[in-house]
Amino acid sequence: MPRSKIFNTNFDPHEVYPCPVCRVGKISHIPLMEAMGCDFCHEIFTINVEQQQIKMPSRQPPLVWRWNGFSWSEVQLEGVELGWGYGLAAISFVVLPTSLIGMVAYYFPPHPHDIISWLPYSWTILTFCYIYQLLFGFL
Ligand SMILES: [Zn+2]
Repeated sequence: MPRSKIFNTNFDPHEVYPCPVCRVGKISHIPLMEAMGCDFCHEIFTINVEQQQIKMPSRQPPLVWRWNGFSWSEVQLEGVELGWGYGLAAISFVVLPTSLIGMVAYYFPPHPHDIISWLPYSWTILTFCYIYQLLFGFL
């Protein structure tokens, strides 16, 4: 039974790590293969020990994660360079819907004595959090 080495600094494919895809299951080595599999979502990852990386080949282009000694980080699309234009577009996809909801809440405020007068402002914050989470992952 492999031990969990979450706090180990080096990636060892014969140990158990949290799944970077579902964030619920654990990935462990698949016998007779140079791969690891998740016990929850059943994704299969190929291993690159030298670069401390795992790759999810079931998606094109494949997603690559690097083990930083504590968690999986730097999810990348293999062979894809994202320039500043993509970053600007991603930021605008977060800011524009949030601004739209916020402007509606500002220009059409609810009556202050309504029970749910807090709802438009909370909805604006939830819109920001939801879209940010969709684009960039968990907060
Ligand atoms: Zn999983």
